[in-house]
Amino acid sequence: MHRDMLYIGGSWTESKGEGRISVENPATGDIIGSVPEGTLEDADTAVLAAREAFEGWSNSPIEERIRVLNSLSESFKTRTNELAELITKEVGTPIEYSKMAMVGTPRVVTRSYAKLLESYNWEEEVRNSTIVREPIGVCAFITPWNFPLHQIIGKVAPAIAAGCTMVLKPSKEAPLNAFILAEMLDEIGLPKGVFNLVSGYGSTVGSHLASHPEVDMVSFTGSTAAGVRVSQAAAESVKRVTLELGGKSANVVLEDGNGIRAAKSAIGACFANSGQTCSALTRLIVPESILKDIIPIIAERVDGYKPGDPMDPKTRCGPMVSANQQESVLGYIRSGIEEGAILVAGGSDLIEGLESGYFVKPTAFMNVEPDMKIWKEEIFGPVLCIASYSSEDEALSLANDSEYGLSGGVWSEDTDRAIAFAKKMRTGQVSVNGGPFNISAPFGGYKKSGNGRELGVHGFEEFLEIKSIQKPIE
Ligand code: NAD
Repeated sequence: MHRDMLYIGGSWTESKGEGRISVENPATGDIIGSVPEGTLEDADTAVLAAREAFEGWSNSPIEERIRVLNSLSESFKTRTNELAELITKEVGTPIEYSKMAMVGTPRVVTRSYAKLLESYNWEEEVRNSTIVREPIGVCAFITPWNFPLHQIIGKVAPAIAAGCTMVLKPSKEAPLNAFILAEMLDEIGLPKGVFNLVSGYGSTVGSHLASHPEVDMVSFTGSTAAGVRVSQAAAESVKRVTLELGGKSANVVLEDGNGIRAAKSAIGACFANSGQTCSALTRLIVPESILKDIIPIIAERVDGYKPGDPMDPKTRCGPMVSANQQESVLGYIRSGIEEGAILVAGGSDLIEGLESGYFVKPTAFMNVEPDMKIWKEEIFGPVLCIASYSSEDEALSLANDSEYGLSGGVWSEDTDRAIAFAKKMRTGQVSVNGGPFNISAPFGGYKKSGNGRELGVHGFEEFLEIKSIQKPIE
């Protein structure tokens, strides 16, 4: 899985630099591949290719865009196992979850944009004006490693649908799947220059793309710290910036909520993808009255959430993506213990027999207080923080006590009451009584979780400019 070429202007092209980036399997520590360390010159060549392709693609027939998107979706279907195995090796995601979330979701998201194009209204009349929607232009995409292909497709599919052209810089931890995507788009016959791929580092290629005067929009997914730097780099050229950033989402059980059901579901909602999920519900907020009933359930479930070989179909929890990430998560677990939170399950010891990979024990804490680091900061690992409340106002204030606002959950036997509470949460998504993820609903953050939305029509319209054409009034 050693890739020697970048994909620029419809051809596999040598990088202008000599550097390479190694890709490690976090379950074993083995190097499984490498990609070119793209240079600023490579990024410039890719932007130029995207610029040259823009006129043609922005005027392409809608039927052609629908064909491309449907073919891409089919191609995901054909290559599901290959892609899922690759992403499991890059990220450590358990294989069955990889098939569903890492490949299945991109497949249906891609198809959803073909469907959207069938009925999208590009023009509307408002009094004496015709309002026209047009593709924004050349886009730069900077993406993270945790759901690598899903985050790429959340940008690439709507951009293709909108008639934009693009340069993608994937993460250094999980870049190999992006090379397969380039192969797929090439086979489908996407016109040259519409999609370009330059692997490399964020501080070089990423930052250069964000500041590039020939890039009209930068869409970034990653940490809040890097998102701020991307915004700063983009500011001078006044391009559109969309940011999908971190989270520390609250899962609130109201007084009349089914605490047992909520507790059981809370584990999956926090630990999916080994806790490396931006929208993970990491803060469980429950009435004091049910704490004693749910803690044994949580303890049992967390203990049963056994890490193991992510290629084994029975494994539910894989390793952290890297040694750094493992150290960071263990540091948070140690800090929770030091700050006086009570360990319900797990802990900071390494797991016997799994020392060669970057595993951590799934962990839950109770009595977590708002001034503790584990309450405030995004841990990005399988660590659940539980706090209790004595009034609904206190529950809301705990839920909103975060600089982030990406996701959330509410549990109540009365759906209307849960929805009323959800409306008061300062966050971009809320699941009521375990309501599942919807690929057509807008996804994005309030506060430091970001700007803009992905998925569905809202995600599509991020890639459009709006023009008003005023006609004389007769
Ligand atoms: P990261 O911020 O380290 O890296 C993300 C991407 O940004 C990578 O491609 C990286 O190379 C690039 N980058 C880093 N510094 C840059 C700079 N100065 N200029 C331009 N590009 C730069 O994040 P990560 O560790 O890959 O991913 C984990 C983070 O992503 C978590 O905080 C998580 O919550 C967040 N995330 C958010 C969402 C969402 O939709 N809101 C989804 C997934 C992940």
